[in-house]
Amino acid sequence: MAKVLCVLYDDPAGGYPTSYARDDLPVIDRYPGGQTAPTPAAVDFVPGHLLGSVSGELGLRRFLEEAGHTLVVTSDKDGDGSVFDRELADADVVISQPFWPAYLTAERIAAAPKLKLAVTAGIGSDHVDLDAAVARGITVAEVTFSNSISVAEHVVMMTLSLVRNYLPSYRVVLDGGWNIADCVARSYDLEGMNVGTVAAGRIGLAVLRRLAPFDVKLHYTDRHRLPAEVERELGLTFHESAAAMVPYCDVVTINAPLHPETEGMFDDKLIGAMKRGAYLINTARARIADQDAVVRALESGQLAGYAGDVWFPQPAPADHPWRTMPHHGMTPHISGSSLSAQARYAAGTREILECWLAGRPIRDEYLIVQGGALAGAGAHAYSTH
Ligand code: NDP
Repeated sequence: MAKVLCVLYDDPAGGYPTSYARDDLPVIDRYPGGQTAPTPAAVDFVPGHLLGSVSGELGLRRFLEEAGHTLVVTSDKDGDGSVFDRELADADVVISQPFWPAYLTAERIAAAPKLKLAVTAGIGSDHVDLDAAVARGITVAEVTFSNSISVAEHVVMMTLSLVRNYLPSYRVVLDGGWNIADCVARSYDLEGMNVGTVAAGRIGLAVLRRLAPFDVKLHYTDRHRLPAEVERELGLTFHESAAAMVPYCDVVTINAPLHPETEGMFDDKLIGAMKRGAYLINTARARIADQDAVVRALESGQLAGYAGDVWFPQPAPADHPWRTMPHHGMTPHISGSSLSAQARYAAGTREILECWLAGRPIRDEYLIVQGGALAGAGAHAYSTH
């Protein structure tokens, strides 16, 4: 019997919800390109309910306990003597969401001799030391595509929000003011701008598709080129590297995984190569950008705005400089954890567990590491040291 250790974010400050703003969710069976949404044998939760917090338990308790397994759920993941560290010692499976990541460092993996499976309930397994997982033969899996569209919607929202100066204008309303000039002195139209994405995978391509109707000029860079018909359909300009692309762009959005190739990519030099007054949107991973270089660029005016939802570490400390830097539109890490997304990645987590517990193969598209090597989706999009 397996011990499953699940690290989830805290319940709402006012307690676990007893009612919701809406009664249903649209049913999404397939993602763009044809991949099916998760297909577990069953789910024990109501789609649209809060599943990613401690009391939501990703809807896993009944399924696991009825089969004789143990489920431990905690939000206490960092610092000396955390519940996570204590329970990790004899855990077979660790599950966490990137929004509240259980950092599975090499030291923690060494302290978890029984650990065989690390599941990311969501997308992005950079909180797991993949080199250590490879060395130990631990399987790492994530619920590919489960929240890619959720993030793409967030990117579009943040792009418009920065360019049109939405958040400061909203603040004027809250403060009882009506100074139109205060609102519009930094407000532009997106129409006609050059927008580029670093990576055109599931999220990056979805962002390009969603922005195309705004009559912008679209650019991308990626390790693999998109099919020619997609480039034609969206009028895309391909660039060999981010360095080659950013000088053309008024807006740059980062949609690559964090791995050795992308870590620290947006440093002083690359940000300095951007157009003065460009906007940078990063919903991928904080450490793809140099934290202090972003602050410097906003203060100097090299960047007109920065937005995103990813921070390092998470949760971000109260004095994190990105909370107070000028012209930002940050949210906590939420873009991929809408109630819509939670229903999909909770079902996908259940599907992965059903397969693993029954000794059936996990879908290739969910695999990041297996059998001592990058595998499946991980072999395509990640790299190790
Ligand atoms: P995909 O795997 O579909 O896309 C990732 C893309 O990045 C691939 O096209 C890959 O290229 C490309 N890529 C990898 N390395 C580089 C590089 N060095 N330069 C340029 N492109 C590169 O993943 P998703 O689009 O679904 O997600 C992307 C990332 O977004 C996730 O890894 C995660 O970190 C983040 N994310 C954030 C969320 C949030 O809530 N904020 C939620 C979900 C994801 P190729 O495959 O062609 O080699």
